Amino acid sequence: LARPMQDYLKGLNDRQYEAATHINGPLMIVAGAGSGKTKVLTTRIAHLMAKGVDAFNILALTFTNKAAAEMKERIEKMLGNNEARNLYIGTFHSVFARILRGEAHRLGYPNSFTIYDSDDSKSVIKSIVKEMELDEKQYKPNVVLGRISQAKSSLIGPLQYQEDYYLQQEDQRTNRPAIGKIYKRYADQCFKNGAMDFDDLLLKMYELLNTFPEVLLKYQHKFRYVLIDEYQDTNAVQYQITKLLAAAHENICVVGDDAQSIYSFRGATIENILQFQKDYDDVKVVKLEQNYRSSKNIIEVANTVIRQNKGQIPKDLWTDKDQGDKIKVVATMTDNEEGKYVSTMIQELKLRDHYHNHDFAILYRTNAQSRAYEENLRRGGIAYKIYGGLSFYQRKEVKDYIAYLRVIANTRDEEALKRIINYPVRGIGKTSMERLQTIANQHNMTLWDVILRAPETGLKGAALEAIRKFITMMQYFQSLQTHKNAYEIAFEVGKHTGLVKELFNDKTVEGLARYENVQELLNSIKEWTDQQENLSQIDEEGTVQEGITDQTLQNATTLGLYLQQITLLTDADNDKEDADVVKLMTIHAAKGLEFPVVFVGGVEETIFPSGLSINTREELEEERRLFYVAITRAKEKLWLTHANSRYRFGNVVANDASRFLEELPKDYIDRSFSGGTGSGFGRGDQHFGGGFGAGGFSRGSGFGSQNDAAAAARKYGPPPAKKQQPYKSTVLPTQAPPQQKVQVHVP
Ligand code: ATP
Ligand code: MG
Repeated sequence: LARPMQDYLKGLNDRQYEAATHINGPLMIVAGAGSGKTKVLTTRIAHLMAKGVDAFNILALTFTNKAAAEMKERIEKMLGNNEARNLYIGTFHSVFARILRGEAHRLGYPNSFTIYDSDDSKSVIKSIVKEMELDEKQYKPNVVLGRISQAKSSLIGPLQYQEDYYLQQEDQRTNRPAIGKIYKRYADQCFKNGAMDFDDLLLKMYELLNTFPEVLLKYQHKFRYVLIDEYQDTNAVQYQITKLLAAAHENICVVGDDAQSIYSFRGATIENILQFQKDYDDVKVVKLEQNYRSSKNIIEVANTVIRQNKGQIPKDLWTDKDQGDKIKVVATMTDNEEGKYVSTMIQELKLRDHYHNHDFAILYRTNAQSRAYEENLRRGGIAYKIYGGLSFYQRKEVKDYIAYLRVIANTRDEEALKRIINYPVRGIGKTSMERLQTIANQHNMTLWDVILRAPETGLKGAALEAIRKFITMMQYFQSLQTHKNAYEIAFEVGKHTGLVKELFNDKTVEGLARYENVQELLNSIKEWTDQQENLSQIDEEGTVQEGITDQTLQNATTLGLYLQQITLLTDADNDKEDADVVKLMTIHAAKGLEFPVVFVGGVEETIFPSGLSINTREELEEERRLFYVAITRAKEKLWLTHANSRYRFGNVVANDASRFLEELPKDYIDRSFSGGTGSGFGRGDQHFGGGFGAGGFSRGSGFGSQNDAAAAARKYGPPPAKKQQPYKSTVLPTQAPPQQKVQVHVP
């Protein structure tokens, strides 16, 4: 076939080529797992740029920021230049947050608005529930937030919510009739605090485009090409925004697989794929059927699984690859035996087939399942990393520090202000705080404004003096924003607040860990500001910075940009690429990724399919799609394991093998049983001996924290040797921390 061949197009099959070189007009690629959808999307961006489209005019939306970073890198390689840095590329949330930094003032928010993570949101909801004197058990923050989040993803505002018959019915039925009212207060409170939660980043972006025609025009003009990966998991707001943006040029390319739609519980809808062809005339549809990822056996099993779903666009994947091993289905007595089996198998494959730690992924349905794997991997001295669970930025000491930065960037940020006003302890007690808070609520003022007028509030003596000092300090930090970067400001905060000193003085092992975490935070801020300075003005182009003229604001935005960046990190983004570690994550988090060897654990009734998702065909089919996603992550080898019994919620429960296992084609699988001396229930005394309480952290070493590492090292000897990270002290006090016997390994 004669076709013009730039190097980056070589190796594409005909249909991939067709899609990658399609330039103008709507394009949809619906194709099975591993068929090169993401690759085509990446290549298409490179091709557009090669054909003269300015990178500034391309918007690409990905599932994680890491995926975006990888794409950029590939495109730079394909084109041999670094133009890709000018692309608007990232998750919906990060791209829209970036745009809102220049536009939020139109909606009455400060451009330096705070982004609330779900902890912040829950804490706001908690205080609203309290204020409204509602039953805190009935109105659990995460339940309420879930409802609000669903409403926002469906573009339902608080007033509309309260008028919606079906939503009201549902809230009556579940005995939470006040959710609409909470939603209203929550929205008001966030606005007052100058804060947006994750859903707001989408919702406000939509409002912005929908309310201000001139803004819409500006971005339609800017984003002449729009590309979206994982389109099957977009929700209603995302759909509406991209539709608005693409309306002028209709150069929109979406890529997805209806068989991998796994976020309907968060409001995503496959309808968006079906609707696409109706929204635009002349949609070019490309189907890809060759899988380049997996062995024949894996593909056969995946095809068989997904065929059981009724509501699926039929497509058959095939592959040129080898037959490969059969899929192993392994039963064990207990979940601990399951963990042991997997870690033993990893050891074996490393020795026998020369695999490395980083070739392995352990996937599971729920985060709680990771524990049995962790224990056994530690025992086996295998370095690993857990994605999900408590991340670096959710640790208390890190959050406290960041709260200072948040208030500096945005004094309206009440959640952050409450966190730091008396931390470290400075004599602004609970009673004083309650009084200030009440006044703020009564007069609808921000807490900060009330604090500024503290002498009028009746506060006296030491408390008043403490507040005065606090204000002076904070105003000093704020004044730095005109001429200091995020790191320099953070440094000053560490020096003047007593925060670092307080941690430094705590000589316990935990205290040392916290101290080091703060150091690590400062290192990362430094790294970020250095990067920004090298990038020399990422927002060089006038469009996005428009509206920010004032020098102060611009610098506030630098600190704001930093804060935004860390709030929007997803688990997968925390990956340190070169780390040779086994990766543990939920199947949801593994979407779009691939690994040579995959273990899928807990393939049991009530776990997978989840006990909560077997009441309707739709739910069950979503679980089955999740199973399909799990299977199709594997390139070479795949294990599906299940345990006859496991600890759940503190009890031993017996589980049947999953119905999904019965659906597998017999000729492509090997079944076996592992272990099972019958004494498998002695788990409590065997393994809960020491230091394993904490869940994994998704950053740094596979050993949840250094105390865990220490405990593990004491019990099982040190993990495999890794280069130790140089200890960098970036903030006072300069005296080195006490030497610890136990080495901390950061793979
Ligand atoms: P998923 O549905 O899981 O997101 P996908 O359709 O996006 O999968 P990719 O991740 O783009 O698939 O590709 C899967 C693997 O196949 C990657 O390793 C990719 O580099 C490789 N691949 C894709 N197309 C080709 C090709 N034409 N030649 C060689 N390798 C290819
Ligand atoms: Mg993909």
